[in-house]
Amino acid sequence: MLELRNVNAAYGNIQVLHNIDLEIHKGEIITLIGANGAGKSTTLMAISGIVPVRSGKILFEGKNISKVSPEKLVSMGISQVPEGRHIFPELTVMENLDMGAFLRNDAKGIKDDLDYVFSLFPILADRKSQDGGTLSGGEQQMLAMSRALMARPKLMLLDEPSMGLAPLIIKQIFEIVKRINKEHNTTIFLVEQNANQALHVADRGYVIENGVITISDSAENLLKNQDIQKAYLGI
Ligand code: ATP
Repeated sequence: MLELRNVNAAYGNIQVLHNIDLEIHKGEIITLIGANGAGKSTTLMAISGIVPVRSGKILFEGKNISKVSPEKLVSMGISQVPEGRHIFPELTVMENLDMGAFLRNDAKGIKDDLDYVFSLFPILADRKSQDGGTLSGGEQQMLAMSRALMARPKLMLLDEPSMGLAPLIIKQIFEIVKRINKEHNTTIFLVEQNANQALHVADRGYVIENGVITISDSAENLLKNQDIQKAYLGI
């Protein structure tokens, strides 16, 4: 579904991603783990068209999308849930969800997806009229994921969904990530500092260090890898 081939990206003169090669097959949950500042968010933003790709190719369903605008990518089936949620704080929960479906005009599909996100996160149904900015951090994460789902993505890019949340909420969010993948036919690329949780839901994982992919393996093997255990799992 998605292939990064030799992707380089920079902020001004500072190159952050170096020759990134990565692939995601339809139906997978893939995680990218790494330390602070390793280049995880930059990788996601290169895919979603926010950070320009200096060289290399990003192929989505075989088409080169490395120069495609973020808006067009949403209509092609790629939605990002950004780090820090970035919901619209002055819009209600319902209005935030409507924004997610902005590019669609299939009323029946939109209604089905709304029912689906409310089944995943019943608390959002109870808070439909509440301003997004007054939700708790966990609820804002749920809203950001729901807003992305309202675009009916084929590929969902999730940036640090666990950031700043209590352990119980993190567990709930990761269970939902699995459900979205299985029930809603959504391929997921999950960027996380919480390597332990991420590797427990993912099929495969990549490790990024200083903008370079250093390891790629099944999640099962990564969990057993002693270097990973020492560096990222605190074992
Ligand atoms: P974290 O887990 O802390 O979010 P990350 O792995 O997602 O880290 P990135 O946010 O991709 O890392 O950052 C990679 C590098 O790029 C860092 O050195 C960071 O300082 C730099 N960087 C990120 N955004 C910008 C920007 N807008 N301008 C300049 N440098 C940036």
